[in-house]
Amino acid sequence: MFRSLSAFALLLFVGTAPAADPKPTVSVVLWFDTEDYILPASDDAALRVADWLTKQDVRATFKIVGEKARVLEKRGRKDVIAALAKHEIGYHSNFHSVQPTPAMYLSALGWDEGVAEFTRREKPGHDDVKRIFGQTPSCYGQPGSSWGPQVYGAMREWKTPMYLDYGRHVGLDRKPMYYCGVFTVYDHENTLRTDLGGEKDVRKAQDRFVEVRRKLLAEGGGLVSIYYHPCEFVHDQFWDGANFEKGANPPRAEWKKPRAKTEEESRVAYQSFFDYITFIKRFADVKFVTAREATATHRDMALGRSFTPADIKAIAAGVTKGIDFQRHGEYALAPSEILFLLNESLAGKQPKGVTLSETPFGPSKAAPAMKQVVTTDASQFTRTAVDVADYFRTHRRVPSAVWLGSEAISPEAYLAALAKVVLTVGDGKPVPESLELTPAKLLSAKRVQDDNPKLWGWVIFPTDFRAPAMMELGQRQAWTIKPAIRRP
Ligand SMILES: [Zn+2]
Repeated sequence: MFRSLSAFALLLFVGTAPAADPKPTVSVVLWFDTEDYILPASDDAALRVADWLTKQDVRATFKIVGEKARVLEKRGRKDVIAALAKHEIGYHSNFHSVQPTPAMYLSALGWDEGVAEFTRREKPGHDDVKRIFGQTPSCYGQPGSSWGPQVYGAMREWKTPMYLDYGRHVGLDRKPMYYCGVFTVYDHENTLRTDLGGEKDVRKAQDRFVEVRRKLLAEGGGLVSIYYHPCEFVHDQFWDGANFEKGANPPRAEWKKPRAKTEEESRVAYQSFFDYITFIKRFADVKFVTAREATATHRDMALGRSFTPADIKAIAAGVTKGIDFQRHGEYALAPSEILFLLNESLAGKQPKGVTLSETPFGPSKAAPAMKQVVTTDASQFTRTAVDVADYFRTHRRVPSAVWLGSEAISPEAYLAALAKVVLTVGDGKPVPESLELTPAKLLSAKRVQDDNPKLWGWVIFPTDFRAPAMMELGQRQAWTIKPAIRRP
């Protein structure tokens, strides 16, 4: 009781904190996909941008391609490496656009095989970036729109805390979120930038920034994401489009340099960017942050928490047949975490309060087809809870099928029934002697898109590329979706 009272007091405090905070702020995470390893002029572009930002006291995040890091080393560009290393370093795949890109090779793989394959192909580049820049990458984002859910499984293994990019494959109300336990800024409404064509472009971008800043401050503060590529300042065409378009994969000896901007076009591009950043800098309530800083202000307060019997009851009461995340004051819970906590409490593995140490992944396979009504008894249901608790410990994910003796049901149906049982037991009553389980739905699955051609519009994909099975796998990982709550 004491614990729940103090939790209540904390909740009240947190609940009133935003209104009491006199100064809401806007954080701007400024990031650069640093990827062009073909056009040497893009090395100088990265140097110029990094140096200028350092002089402005703005710390950006440079997501670097493994091959770009190695090429800088081979070309002896210690100056570029040192200038970039003054900023935060992220990771942007090993070869970016050399075929096959991640979505392609992941599209035919399941969860475990996909995680292992992404690690096989991409981890060496991550390690090169780490070695060459002397920093462990703070984030990852995909080449083009080459997204896949298994990437998040690999990121958890590599301990990369943030997914930072822009795309539409997965999103939660277009705000910062958690997916697979990874802090994710991806389908982010407030992703801004200026075109690089001069004053007119900059004015338009400034107006948009003012509008977004006003809206975010009114909401109590928030995050803006701004991205560029250093190569944009010097090329007239992306380096990869010139070589790997529509599935093409020429040998290195045949790689062509992309068309370059004229000196005047390049000057205007730099000036547009500098003017835009200078404009943003002048607001006292706007602060540039790195990926790691953004991750820290959105730290997952559910992890490491000990949930009291009262917490567990409130969580069970929030479960309906449409399964989704829950928000309780300063923390949010993804469906996989809700299932873990409720199951753990019924299985009695942690009688003094249940601790959540990580976000369990979603199921790796589709759920079995189940009857409209499945009946079971108290003994079987309790034994199943013990089995599911063991499954979580062994596989660290939601089971694809929950076995009531010889009958398999979906984890959604199990969670809906489990919540009712936990409420009954929480009232001091025994597990009901007879139980009926009916199908339930993972509502959050709609936050991962169905496969459609728009997802794969990147010029590097073969035009007929589709990934229906991979997007379904991504929807099963919607068990892990919840909002990322920002603390000022
Ligand atoms: Zn890129």
